[in-house]
Amino acid sequence: MITAAILAILGLAFGLWFWWACSEPSSTFFRPVLIRGPQEGKRISLTFDDGPAEQFTEQILDILRAQQVPATFFVCGKNVENHPDLLRRIVAEGHEVGNHAYSHFFVYFKSRRRIAGEIDRTQEIIEKVVGFRPRIFRPPYGARWFGLVPALVERGMHLILWSATGYDWKKDVPGIIKAALGELKPGAVILLHDGRETRRAIEIDRSRTVEALPAIIAGARKQGYTFAPLKDFLPAT
Ligand SMILES: [Zn+2]
Repeated sequence: MITAAILAILGLAFGLWFWWACSEPSSTFFRPVLIRGPQEGKRISLTFDDGPAEQFTEQILDILRAQQVPATFFVCGKNVENHPDLLRRIVAEGHEVGNHAYSHFFVYFKSRRRIAGEIDRTQEIIEKVVGFRPRIFRPPYGARWFGLVPALVERGMHLILWSATGYDWKKDVPGIIKAALGELKPGAVILLHDGRETRRAIEIDRSRTVEALPAIIAGARKQGYTFAPLKDFLPAT
């Protein structure tokens, strides 16, 4: 009886730990992974997931251009198919592009083959539009699973998570600004969103992110941070 209870508790503890290892952005169980950049200097890097998505991506690009801030866009293959013009603009304005899977799927319980298929399909779509294959991948929902890292390593790609976010999928504008600025540390990789999964802009609202962005940029600069491209945070190859 006691043995059964102990086993149940150990099983539960292992389950909770494993869930944390697969889903918590700061977990380094699956590696190599980049969560945060070098901690010397006060450089931070902005990233936007789930686009391109019509007006929100355009509005964010307008702000980044006006503020002279480089950023990285982790795009979904399906969204690029719908908006190749926006991906071209992202690249033309000097920003980086990352792969965020084709269909914004969960990697949990997926085979390496299925995960690789999502990565490759998106790489091909991006290459067709802008002529290169990204070297960085961020898994949808920040989820990780066994086949993911081997598939990335095989392709010479880096797994990228984040160390700061504005929780722009649930907070209001002041809340997004406060959360993003509150989590800043040297080398921070900041997660925001210009889209939502593979939905069209007509179905989503990222206006709060757009509204919060100038204050996040100004607030970070006031704290002495400068914005660096994410490639500066990657190990030299
Ligand atoms: Zn996403």
